[in-house]
Amino acid sequence: MIRNHYETVKNSLNGAELCIVTKYRNTEEILSYYAEGERIFAENHAQELLAKAPLLPADIRWQFIGHLQRNKVRSILPYVSCIQSLDSLELAKVIEKEAARIGKTVSVLAEFHLAEEDENKTGLLKEDALSFFAEVMKYEHLDLCGIMVMGPHTEDSERICSVFREGKALFDELQNTYGSDRIRILSMGMSSDYPLALSCGSTMVRIGTYLFQE
Ligand SMILES: *Cc1c(COP(=O)(O)O)cnc(C)c1O
Repeated sequence: MIRNHYETVKNSLNGAELCIVTKYRNTEEILSYYAEGERIFAENHAQELLAKAPLLPADIRWQFIGHLQRNKVRSILPYVSCIQSLDSLELAKVIEKEAARIGKTVSVLAEFHLAEEDENKTGLLKEDALSFFAEVMKYEHLDLCGIMVMGPHTEDSERICSVFREGKALFDELQNTYGSDRIRILSMGMSSDYPLALSCGSTMVRIGTYLFQE
């Protein structure tokens, strides 16, 4: 682990949760953060999650953050505590069916595509938010507890902030509709933009590179 980067991140959180993104990292690197007390780790590929999770402590709350194919749901479900990349009703239906089959309730976040300039990104459209939530809230084995947003791929911090503010406004609207007991997580911010995300009200940042690279 990189002590000074870790301390910088920890000192900036101000109550938000840290989700450590461990893609490309080995178990030893992951355990260095586990030893500090971190328990929320994330992978974006099913294969990598399946290779690592069984070798690591069972109290890790694994987050799945990549595009999830429906045929991978069954294999990853026993390991994940939250799927942050829920981006279609079809996927929600498959997760519900598989979660019911193994008697598990899994947290999910709806992933929104708010950075219009990043064309080939996945995610729901803001216009569809309320109908999507109304539908997915019906599923008994899914705890739909928030949203995940990616900042636009640009250096322009004004533009990044405007997307994060849109994410925060959507989060507030969902909290007003469903209550803050139910809607708890606004997952926003990565290595390059987490301070901006936190200043816009993010409740969880997903950081990889900065915590593992000099
Ligand atoms: C890789 C990844 C991150 C972390 O990115 P870094 O730039 O390494 O901090 C966050 N969210 C998602 C969805 C990712 O795929």
